[in-house]
Amino acid sequence: PGAVPPASAGSAKSTPAGVAYRSALDALASPNGAVAYLPEELPAAQQPEWDEAELAAVVAELSTLPPLVFAGECDLLTERLAAAATGRAFVLQGGDCAETFADATADSIRKRMRTILQMAVVLTYAASTPVVKIGRMAGQFAKPRSSGSETRDGVTLPAYRGDAVNDFAFTPEARRNDPQRLIKAYHHSSATLNLIRAFTTGGEADLRQVHTWNKGFARNAANARYEATARDIERAISFMEACGAYSNEVLGRVEFYASHEALLLPYERALTRTDSRTGKLYDVSAHFLWIGERTRQLDGAHVDLLSRVRNPIGVKLGPTTSKDEVLGLIDKLDPQRRAGRLTFVTRMGAGKIRDNLPRVVEAVAESGAQVVWTCDPMHGNTITSPSGYKTRRFDDVIDEVRGFFEVHNSLGTIPGGLHVELTGGDVTEVLGGHQEIEDADLSTAYESLCDPRLNHQQSLEMAFLVAEMLQE
Ligand code: PEP
Ligand code: MN
Repeated sequence: PGAVPPASAGSAKSTPAGVAYRSALDALASPNGAVAYLPEELPAAQQPEWDEAELAAVVAELSTLPPLVFAGECDLLTERLAAAATGRAFVLQGGDCAETFADATADSIRKRMRTILQMAVVLTYAASTPVVKIGRMAGQFAKPRSSGSETRDGVTLPAYRGDAVNDFAFTPEARRNDPQRLIKAYHHSSATLNLIRAFTTGGEADLRQVHTWNKGFARNAANARYEATARDIERAISFMEACGAYSNEVLGRVEFYASHEALLLPYERALTRTDSRTGKLYDVSAHFLWIGERTRQLDGAHVDLLSRVRNPIGVKLGPTTSKDEVLGLIDKLDPQRRAGRLTFVTRMGAGKIRDNLPRVVEAVAESGAQVVWTCDPMHGNTITSPSGYKTRRFDDVIDEVRGFFEVHNSLGTIPGGLHVELTGGDVTEVLGGHQEIEDADLSTAYESLCDPRLNHQQSLEMAFLVAEMLQE
């Protein structure tokens, strides 16, 4: 596949938040090398200011690096998501709010993957459908920020925008936007994905193995409520074995996809390539890309870029989303109404979802699109605790999921999956759960540099609770 030249190459100006990027249309002319830059410039929200010369060199290098995923894999994921759109599969998308370079270790990657696989087994059993497993992993290194700066003790510095942009340390040097970090993000994504690919086939993902971990969770006295489900799963596995239906080929391995927010346009453009089989454009930085609540402007550069690639894509929808916005997004991103192409990730808040989701769902029904509906029960439920931590209440998270099921069940539409911020470790970032984490406990192991994540135990607890909702 040929690399797509950066649309901003040759431009000397910096690219602060809100400044225009040329339309990705220019990329379409790239296969024969004749790049026709169109005059159209689109506003691009949430872009860091870069040194233009350094950025151009980095983008040129990124454009020569191999794809992280293949177009055929993206197409397969679209097929899997098409099944979720019609209730024949359930999506589980999860991982850090923001991955860090320091945490791209074997241990951390393995724990996150294990957590997702353990949740998936429970959900597969409860939903009686395949679970489409997608990590917020191998590329989730950049963050949109509500404020461009951060003040501590009277000192104001640029905000931390994720390891792909700058460093979390609170010094002017650390907070400088460094384009070289885009290259590092690529290599950490590559190493992460390599390990994920090894785990998916190397025995780590075997159903019996994953179930054994879940038994450990359900044996804990605090989790007595979930023991019955764990026992039912055990019986189902034994039954398959007894029938000779347990095949290592099928149950000893999994499909696991990579996803991240398509935020940094120079990075995503440099990894947007022409598929040699079909001549179509794919963003080969991940299988699935999504557009955040802050960058989904209909006439903005993010919607434009993803409208031109063939990957399955998602858009976050907050509580104020209007019917017109939804219809506009569908017309831009899924004009052909291809099932599996578009996922709407609703993140409305536990107190708002029951009132605000129905009008959005009804607008989609009117459009004829077959979108996948997933529930992000994290981003609408963020609070600041009395002691000052950015946190969420486990009960609010669960209540939003419950509201999501209620709305879809009452409208006759399909609740297609979950989008969750979680990690595999024993962190204390979200309040509640069976460990009863309280405000005073948050400081014990609050490790996230951005949003609070469910820890391993809370993630499993969520899976068992959602399993109950799926079976109601
Ligand atoms: C996120 O998913 O981390 C995020 C920033 O979400 P949203 O765009 O929905 O606010
Ligand atoms: Mn987040």
